[in-house]
Order: sequence, then C-alpha cells, then structure tokens
Amino acid sequence: MNLQALKNELLSEYPYRIELHAHTSPASSCSEITPQELVATYKGLVYDAVVITNHFLYQSDGRDKEDYINEFLKDFEEAQAIGEEQGVTIYLGAEIRFTENNNDYLIFGVNKELLWEIYDLLPNGIENFRKRYAMPESVFVQAHPKRNGMQPVDPALLDGIEVFNMHPNHNSRVGIAAMYAKEHHISIVTAGSDFHHRNQNHEGVSSLRSAVLPKDSFELAKLLKSGDYLLEIGRNNIIIP
Ligand SMILES: [Zn+2]
Ligand SMILES: [Zn+2]
Repeated sequence: MNLQALKNELLSEYPYRIELHAHTSPASSCSEITPQELVATYKGLVYDAVVITNHFLYQSDGRDKEDYINEFLKDFEEAQAIGEEQGVTIYLGAEIRFTENNNDYLIFGVNKELLWEIYDLLPNGIENFRKRYAMPESVFVQAHPKRNGMQPVDPALLDGIEVFNMHPNHNSRVGIAAMYAKEHHISIVTAGSDFHHRNQNHEGVSSLRSAVLPKDSFELAKLLKSGDYLLEIGRNNIIIP
C-alpha cells in the first residue's frame, strides 16, 4: 500500500472543506469577528462552507425573547448573504447552554422555529430537554466535553462529541475526549476551530471534509449522521473518525 497515494485519493474524494465551529460578533459577545470578516477569512483559506455556531443562551435579565433570537439570527443572515456573493456556503448552527451549568452543546440542523422552541427549554436542563424534545433532523453534540469546568453528562443523551476542539486558549484534552467517545460508542465525532479571535491564528485550523457539499444545515446534520466524512486538523492531517 502506498500511503501517500491513499491519502491523496482520500483528499480528492472528499474535497469540500467545512468549518464546524465559528463565532461572530455581535451575536457572540466573546467574539470580535464580524460576519463579513468571517466570510472573507474563510474564503481566503479556501473553505467551501462555515457553520456559524454562536452562543445561544437563556436571557435571565428579562430580555425579550424575540429580540434576542432576531439578533442571534442577524449575524447568520448577514454572513449568508455575503457568502452567497463570495461562494462560501454559510450554515446556521448554535452552541447552546442550559442554565444548570456551563456545558456547551452544538446543534447542527437548526432553524428559527427550532431555536424558538429550544429557548424556552434552556432552564430545564439537558436531561429534560433530550428526553422530552425530539429533534429527529438535527444532531446534538457536546462541545469540548473535557475542558475545565465541564460537567459529566449521560452519554446516552448525546448524538456526538466534539473531540477535536482547537480553541488555542483552552485545553480541551482531545486525547481524553477521543477515548471517552470510543468508550461510550459515540458515533459522531467532530472537529472545530472554535474561531473567535483575530491574530491568534486559529481560523480554519480544522475542518470536516465531505464528498458533497450539503445545501443547508439539515443536510449537514444528515451528513454527520451518515458518518461519510473525514476530519482535517491543520492542513493535510487526516482523521477518519
Ligand atoms: Zn465564545
Ligand atoms: Zn464555541
């Protein structure tokens, strides 16, 4: 077997590069990247698509739900419009947090209607959410489960785990996360740059590589469920999950 030839074949069979974890400002207050800058950055890195996974949090200060959700969606809509002009597909995702602790969960396959319903369930905790609320067309992934401050959850409540979270300012203990996914037979494993900041060189440090480019967030969820994808760390370091 010629390993280099096999690798080149894989890369050419799975040509599309998708960022699965990126934040924009102002929807994520921790990010300083505007929707426009996000699209320009990933276009420059020759990505085909980016999932915008802004933080989606319960507003305990009494802020109006509709205002909050519209504001949340505004960054995505802006990025999507610019992406259409520039040839970068932008998918809606969300990184949600229940009020019970600081665990983060990525949702792939989401739209305004789902967000509207999910919002009211955030104070009820993950167990209630996953047992009572079916999202058959979405994928529910625990983000960086082995970072400091994360609480253990019942793996049966998860569709997947973001094993390879590449945020440079956190230790996501990716090896331990990979073992955790394996031990609990979690079939969907993802990678994400968790892009927030300029000048930290963490834009596009990982991607999902696919054979076809999904049309929308729900098709992306389907692709994740199919398992027919590669992960790429840095450039040209291929992981078959
Ligand atoms: Zn953040
Ligand atoms: Zn994030």
